[in-house]
Amino acid sequence: MAGVIRRLDEAVVNRIAAGEVIQRPANAIKEMIENCLDAKSTSIQVVVKEGGLKLIQVQDNGCGIRKEDLDIVCERFTTSKLQKFEDLASISTYGFRGEALASISHVAHVTVTTKTADAKCAYRATYSDGKIKAPPKPCAGNQGTQITVEDLFYNVNTRRKALKNPNEEYAKILEVVSRYAIHNSGISFSVKKQGDTVSDVRTLSNTSTVDNIRSIFGNAVSRELIEVGCEDASLAFKMKGYITNANYSVKKCIFLLFINHRLVESAALRKAIETVYAAYLPKSTHPFLYLSLEIAPQNVDVNVHPTKHEVHFLHEDSILERVQQHVESKLLGSNSSRMYFTQTLLPGADCSSSEVVKASANSSAASKGTSDKVYAHQMVRTDSREQKLDAFLQPVNNPLSTGPTEAMTEVNAGPPEGVVRPQDAEMEDVSDLVEIADVQEDTVMPGGLSESGRVSPETVPPRKRPREDVDIEMEKDDTRKDMTAACTPRRRIINLTSVLTLQEEISNQAHANLQEMLHDHSFVGCVSPQWALAQYQTKLYLLNTTKLSQELFYQILIYDFANFGVLRLSEPAPLYELSMLALEDPESGWTEEDGPKEGLAEYIVEFLKKKTEMLKDYFSLEIDENEDSDSGSTTWKWTVEHVLYKAFRTHLLPPKHFTEDGNILQLANLPDLYKVFERC
Ligand code: ADP
Ligand code: MG
Repeated sequence: MAGVIRRLDEAVVNRIAAGEVIQRPANAIKEMIENCLDAKSTSIQVVVKEGGLKLIQVQDNGCGIRKEDLDIVCERFTTSKLQKFEDLASISTYGFRGEALASISHVAHVTVTTKTADAKCAYRATYSDGKIKAPPKPCAGNQGTQITVEDLFYNVNTRRKALKNPNEEYAKILEVVSRYAIHNSGISFSVKKQGDTVSDVRTLSNTSTVDNIRSIFGNAVSRELIEVGCEDASLAFKMKGYITNANYSVKKCIFLLFINHRLVESAALRKAIETVYAAYLPKSTHPFLYLSLEIAPQNVDVNVHPTKHEVHFLHEDSILERVQQHVESKLLGSNSSRMYFTQTLLPGADCSSSEVVKASANSSAASKGTSDKVYAHQMVRTDSREQKLDAFLQPVNNPLSTGPTEAMTEVNAGPPEGVVRPQDAEMEDVSDLVEIADVQEDTVMPGGLSESGRVSPETVPPRKRPREDVDIEMEKDDTRKDMTAACTPRRRIINLTSVLTLQEEISNQAHANLQEMLHDHSFVGCVSPQWALAQYQTKLYLLNTTKLSQELFYQILIYDFANFGVLRLSEPAPLYELSMLALEDPESGWTEEDGPKEGLAEYIVEFLKKKTEMLKDYFSLEIDENEDSDSGSTTWKWTVEHVLYKAFRTHLLPPKHFTEDGNILQLANLPDLYKVFERC
């Protein structure tokens, strides 16, 4: 049976319509604040009870409402702001449709107390369902208007139930009022709960926009603000505001957007700006943005539904691009004296060739917004935590056979995947590579204590790792531990006091912050065979690769004393050349009196050969008779990055003196570089 179609009761229709306009207390407050601003108020005070569900009271000192208008002020489509349809195109007030007060009066009890400048006294009237309940009553009052809204949604059960968390509603109210407060410096705002003496948001009429941002969002935001502003007559828009520089970032983007002074949202604009920041801020963090756009009224659809905060406008794409470019130029300009590396994305361009762009706030490309410049956000980014691709590519020439020409690359540094510790080699091919050491099981006590009572280096990891981060190498380490227990030879326990003392010395000297830095650094590049750049957090460091590797190998010697695996070098290390090199080094202390280096080098070779047995026992150094040398390739950069610095991460306990002797230097602490260098 077909249902009978009936006309809905008018009160029900109005209530449904009102519920569309006013969805929660914060909507009502926004409408009321806009009315206060339309009335040219300089002071707006909001008091609420139970998140606005019980009471909202908005008091202003604006022009007030004339007594004769009070009768119809809550009727739908009554407004003092618009007369003809054509006026819509040039509307400059917030309200124009006369819908807000009417809607509120359909879902709450509304009382208006108001006084115009020339009225002798104030008048008060109460409203229900859009109608004034009784003629306005004269009463005392200052110029301006106070509107009270009580028992919001008293007649809309479902809505009331949906809004049962007053704290949440109150937070939303604070958000709306504080945003209007920031946008309207020169007007004082306050919000408080009824009965409280202190306001939760409070701005004064003589404070600046930045002052207001500071008082609402705090110092951390306000001290990192950059002022922005641009306009384009051909696109008929102006933009101004404040945005945070790359020093500041938060988990969730704070975006205060006003278009033609109305608090709105624009997902497209948000995305456009976030894209710019993504190149400068740490991953998954966001900026604070306050932007005020003025767009020719005829280009914005102002006739949007009051609850539809999302806006669209004519020339949207072009305006977004213009704003994007401006924001980017300002971000770069905030450190105008710095150099930035950018990578051009020209087809076929060699991605290793970096172009250095001098960033400048007033560079013409930036300020004119011409698009021949490649902006950071238009470039491909990779995450520094993922390894660089070249780590997976073996250099054409085997890094193991680097020639003796460059002082620090002689290190015959182990397998290409770069881990120097022999234990890793054990894991890969135990039978082939490891010389099985004497097993002295009886000397190991449970808990990793050796007989001497000292902590054995294997059972308790000798190097305290800064944190239990998972990275490939550590996983490997863990596996290694298990495998060590299961199928690899036990380590020889070293009870030699001299060695143990040296181990202790190393760990006492360790510098925790440096260790953390080395562990988490991103390798930037080699400056020279001796120096390399690395980034940690927002800081850029210059590191003495030579000194660090010396320390690394020294520590390996001490910690793995008598426990070395064997790495069979594809080309045996040239003893004579190595000895010569050592003698060339001023640190060798060679003087004329010692006689010619060549002779000494020969002596060294002979001496080492005599000590073959001991070298083999303690250091697993095997020396065989022929000692051909081969001067090979120059893949030292690869070795530095993927062998040495990788080993520094987990295998080096950097001694304190590195912080003072210039072997690790902090060059810059420029958060702006954070993402930029990630791409290099
Ligand atoms: P609109 O703002 O679209 O005109 P509203 O329903 O918000 O519609 O308000 C209706 C009318 O009530 C306004 O046009 C204005 O004349 C008057 N009014 C509302 N609030 C105030 C106020 N705080 N001060 C002065 N007049 C007000
Ligand atoms: Mg209004």
